Amino acid sequence: MSNVLLETKKVVKRFGGLVAVNKMDVVIEQGSICSIIGPNGAGKTTFFNTLTGIYKPEEGEIVFDGHHTIGLRPDQITDLHIARTFQNIRLFGSMTVLENIMVGMHTRLKQSGVDALLRTRKFREEEKKAFAKATELMEYVGLHGVGDELARNLPYGGQRRIEVARALASQPKLLLLDEPTAGMNPNETEDAIRLFRRVRDDLGITILLIEHDMRVVMGISERITVMDYGEKIAEGLPAEIRANKRVIEAYLGRGAATEIIA
Ligand code: ADP
Ligand code: MG
Repeated sequence: MSNVLLETKKVVKRFGGLVAVNKMDVVIEQGSICSIIGPNGAGKTTFFNTLTGIYKPEEGEIVFDGHHTIGLRPDQITDLHIARTFQNIRLFGSMTVLENIMVGMHTRLKQSGVDALLRTRKFREEEKKAFAKATELMEYVGLHGVGDELARNLPYGGQRRIEVARALASQPKLLLLDEPTAGMNPNETEDAIRLFRRVRDDLGITILLIEHDMRVVMGISERITVMDYGEKIAEGLPAEIRANKRVIEAYLGRGAATEIIA
């Protein structure tokens, strides 16, 4: 049996005349932690959006866990157990931390609208279980005693953790993280890296992250794919990427060479 969880073949996504994602081939092994890096505007987020059904690629093939996913709606892709976090945090600010996490569970709850309306015993039992599970996830991502706080009142790092907990609530096989440490201070970043490792090690969840912080990328990734102008320009082990001329140039050209070489 193959242990490839996700494979994309020649995926193309255009916006008018702009080819934002150009013939992207990626192979992600089950249980790995991989990264996609590249300068701003390289097409990283757009590529994620093709994986989650937000955009439908014009060309190519995406196979996740044996399913062809191009043409599926985002909710159908969630049902296949792909979850994500967003580059710009997307939480319900006026809902509590626990309520936000429970949103992620929604697709996994078996209750019907009628059950909810009548508040049947089945509904109340499911709700209680969901509450307990959300609390467990909240603790798992390192948030304690803040379940009833409004999400918007948590510091930035805390909000990012809520997003991870919400993604985990949907029981993903693949977790896509879009710049998960953006805006974090060094301590928060260290904590985040430890959390992602635990998610993979304890829960067996495969992780694909987009990251701009080279310390994070080099520290956590088993394999790295580099994008520039929509295309894959390199892939390999962190040490190979660090030494890759084309990669250094792509960053040099935009004045970030010191970042990758450091
Ligand atoms: P990255 O995440 O690597 O910084 P993006 O995927 O956000 O890059 O963007 C890739 C390119 O596609 C950029 O040139 C961006 O301006 C363009 N782009 C992204 N989303 C859209 C959109 N919805 N409509 C038009 N152009 C877009
Ligand atoms: Mg992006």
